[in-house]
Parts: sequence; C-alpha cells; structure tokens
Amino acid sequence: MPALTTARFHTTVVALQKLPTGDLPEVAFVGRSNAGKSSAINVLCNRRRLAFSSRTPGRTQALNYFAIGPGEHVDGYIVDTPGYGYASAPLETKRTWDQLAGLYLQQRRQLAGVVLLADIRRELTELDLQLIDWIEAWIPLLVVLTKADKLGHQQRQGVLHSVRKRLAAIRPESDDAVMLFSALDRSGREGVLALVEAWFARRGAAPAGPDAAPESEPGIEPRPDPN
Ligand code: GDP
Repeated sequence: MPALTTARFHTTVVALQKLPTGDLPEVAFVGRSNAGKSSAINVLCNRRRLAFSSRTPGRTQALNYFAIGPGEHVDGYIVDTPGYGYASAPLETKRTWDQLAGLYLQQRRQLAGVVLLADIRRELTELDLQLIDWIEAWIPLLVVLTKADKLGHQQRQGVLHSVRKRLAAIRPESDDAVMLFSALDRSGREGVLALVEAWFARRGAAPAGPDAAPESEPGIEPRPDPN
C-alpha cells in the first residue's frame, strides 16, 4: 500500500494528450480556490510546500502529478487539479478548466478515487455539485470538509450530517464518504490517509475501469433472485 508521505513532484500536464500513459492508479484532489486544497495535500503528505496555493487568480491551469511509492518505484499518482470558482477569473480560465480538469475527471479511467475539498463554512456549493455530477458513479468520492477548526463541535457535526445526506441523495449507488479535516491542527488526517491509501491498494490489485470492481466477493455465488 503506497504511503502518501512518499509523494514527490512528477510532472505538470497542461493538455490532455500529455497525460501519463500506463495503468497506474491516480487519486485526484479537486476543490474551489481557497478551499484549503494545497494545505490539505501538504499535511496529508507531510510536506511543507509540495502543492501550491491556488490563491493567485489566472495562474497556470495545469494538473500537477505527484508520484507515490517507495524509493524510485512509482505505485500511483496524486493529481492536484487547479482550484475552480474564482469569481474574478476570466472566461478563458474557466474554459481551460473545463477542457483540462473537467474532461480529465470525466474521462480518466486510471482514476481510483476523487477527493473533493470543501470549506466547512460553505458546505457544498453549486460548482462543487456540478463537479460531483461529472464523476462516474463507479469512482469513489471522498468529500473532505476543510477548516473544521473554524466551527464548534455541534456545528461541525451538523454540516457533516447534512453533506452526507446530500451526497447519498445525489449518488445513491456510490459508496462515498464525508470527513472532517483541519490542516491547522491536523485532525482528520489519519482517516483521509487510510481511505485514499485503500483506494490505491484496491486499484493496484484490479484493472482500471467500471468493470473493475467485482459485484460479489470472489468465490461467493450471487444469491438467486427470489422472483
Ligand atoms: P487552496 O486555494 O484550496 O489551495 O487553499 P489553501 O490551502 O491555499 O488555503 C486557503 C486559505 O485557507 C489559506 O489562508 C490557508 O492558510 C487557510 N486554511 C487552509 N486550511 C485551513 C485549515 O484547516 N484551518 C484554517 N483555519 N485555515 C486553513
């Protein structure tokens, strides 16, 4: 199981044709600008400046690949996508986002999972929901509610509950998760790491694509239909 703490910069991709070839699993990190995505990636990977903040509007729209695996060995990639939702971003930036990150999320069969970072104080915005809509049902999604330290216990639990309900309603057939996280006090780190690393391990053992997940445990016959 590849540990995220082995992450190191691999490559920057600015066009879909330049995506790495091969079957190595990829976990994409997505989120609105300022959601806390780069802070979360850095805390998860135990690095100070692996991912860079998307604070500057109009900065290069690119997919940043970080390799995961012991030593020189690459078991998979973490893919940092550009932050979306900058009100002041020029139309051209929005179009580039759709054509690169948007198509990547909709088409990349190497995806072993998607981590969506959302500021807990904003819950899920329209743009987050639009993005979730693009992710195929067979790809597991983890919504990480960032900056959990900004709310008290009661409020945190309330948002957690409402986002879980929302997700279950829009992706009823999927096995998605919602977790609280704070880059400030590092709470929630272990849970996110465990799930992302389990995605890598699962995909590492099975070929990519919608048929990859077995419908039942190997060796167990499906129950006959009572009708
Ligand atoms: P990105 O644009 O999604 O990469 O967001 P950043 O990681 O750059 O974070 C945006 C702002 O939120 C920065 O000022 C961070 O210091 C702050 N921030 C990020 N994570 C947390 C957190 O867990 N708690 C608090 N209080 N602030 C955070």
